[in-house]
Amino acid sequence: MKLVGKLYLKILQAHKLCACFFYLCFPWKYLTRKPPNFYFFMANNTKYIFVTGGVTSSLGKGIISASLAKLLQARGYTVTIQKLDPYINVDPGTLNPYEHGECFVTDDGAETDLDLGHYERFLNVATSQANNVTSGRIYQSVIDKERKGDYLGKTVQVIPHITDEIKNRVRLLGKTGNYNFVITEIGGTVGDIESLPFIEAVRQLKWELGKDCLVVHLTLLPYLSTTGELKTKPTQHSVKLLLEYGVQPDVLVCRSEHAISKEIKNKIALFCNVASNAVIEARDASTIYEVPLLMEQEKLDEVVLSKLSIPVPENIDLANWKEFLHKFKNPKAEVKIGLIGKYIELKDSYKSISEAFIHAGASNDVKVKIEWIHSESITDENVTEKFKGLKGILVAPGFGQRGIEGKIAAIKYARENHVPFFGICLGMQCAVIEFARNVLGFKDANSTEMNPGTTNPVIDLLETQKKITNKGGTMRLGAYPCNVKPDTKAFEVYKKKENYERHRHRYEFNNEYMADFEKAGLIASGINPESGLVEIVELDNHPWFVGVQFHPEYKSTVANPHPLFVNFVRAAVEVAALKEKV
Ligand code: GLN
Repeated sequence: MKLVGKLYLKILQAHKLCACFFYLCFPWKYLTRKPPNFYFFMANNTKYIFVTGGVTSSLGKGIISASLAKLLQARGYTVTIQKLDPYINVDPGTLNPYEHGECFVTDDGAETDLDLGHYERFLNVATSQANNVTSGRIYQSVIDKERKGDYLGKTVQVIPHITDEIKNRVRLLGKTGNYNFVITEIGGTVGDIESLPFIEAVRQLKWELGKDCLVVHLTLLPYLSTTGELKTKPTQHSVKLLLEYGVQPDVLVCRSEHAISKEIKNKIALFCNVASNAVIEARDASTIYEVPLLMEQEKLDEVVLSKLSIPVPENIDLANWKEFLHKFKNPKAEVKIGLIGKYIELKDSYKSISEAFIHAGASNDVKVKIEWIHSESITDENVTEKFKGLKGILVAPGFGQRGIEGKIAAIKYARENHVPFFGICLGMQCAVIEFARNVLGFKDANSTEMNPGTTNPVIDLLETQKKITNKGGTMRLGAYPCNVKPDTKAFEVYKKKENYERHRHRYEFNNEYMADFEKAGLIASGINPESGLVEIVELDNHPWFVGVQFHPEYKSTVANPHPLFVNFVRAAVEVAALKEKV
């Protein structure tokens, strides 16, 4: 054993000598790399961090993963985050928003879990198909391989075939060579039957990767108000369960309503075989954007780095993050914006939109107060009463007939009363329908999604969609170019002609009606240069009336608030101020 250890040290030393030699020969290589990457060059390995959850679901593994990633990024490292979801759907694209909230879409057209939205908003780095893998996708590729004969002669089993496939998907991101760290969040709670193959894959990877791998386990310390105590037993049990599966967590992050004393940390450490400085307190925060700072105070990043034998760089650059947080927590004014949708019972259905409003509010020094309004509750008769006090109206994306007439009534109100309006995807399509009905006089104008027999299909199925029968992954998905016309509101917003935005829809503005619309004042101000599809419409005689066929909310991040949201919020504030003066 000693001999093996000595040999390992010798190899490591030789490795480091080679690294030093390399930098002596090519010093500019050192200069072009940030110092932390130097250490990675020395070690030459991507580090894998797994984040599991215990005790209950909804403890915020996504936010903890994103916060740890943010801290590592702020220390100069490159990081990506991946989510493994144990359900059988191949992706969440076919799920009703009531199930798991919004479906987030990546540049490369993957329909993914909403946690990927958090990863992008925190890191300002785009994710991709490889960042979200479900059991369904794993099984599908194993079964496809079996049908092709790749396992010929072998019995295909959960172990090793499913677990190998999981492991490949984890290592795939590391193999790109783009990241110092790959953080993999395992969906669900330890003990769920369906997440067992994932935990087994973690066990195997931990064994194979050795010092390049680490497990962070997130648990809950419930507070008993009768005795005024934080209880550690559920955490102990959940770690025992992990141990039963052969996984020893290295770091425990404990959600708690109250401060965790040194004694409790020591007790957890003792019962769970974890160093006491690796028991991290995660107090309830007033906003998710505070969590990275709380984790920094608790030294989560430092503990992780030292456990992975990586030097902790002195500098941590969180200046912009702190500035954003300060602005968000200290707004100079409040602006009320109506969000019109039909899934509002579950606010997570519009997660990226509400987060984009947070970014846009902070950059305008205001708090955006979202008034959630159910589209089914709006009629031409009650809209004036309902919308009292709203300084802007956003009509949300959606599918199907339910709630459509309420959205159209909301848009009519915004158009006629010069209230800033922002329509996203279905919201834009409804704006086109409303204009066709009430301005152009096409009384039965509609989308063929809602009324396939309409005589005025101003929104129609994309040509490429007509032969499609499968629902999963078949929409117009991912980033497409959008060229913005000069002298339009859209150009004022983007300040450049060529832009890329993410899509998720089957229906589209019907170009046969373009001349009618433009003559009457609804302008197509953004066009896809390849297909000629209309991507943005706007009104020319309105303070701010913009509909977009794409989803700008997916691209809004803390570092880069989306200009459409920023501009819309600014318009809401300014138009309201002007109206007050009159
Ligand atoms: N249902 C519309 C379509 O498929 C809009 C989709 C959406 O709002 N994401 O085109």
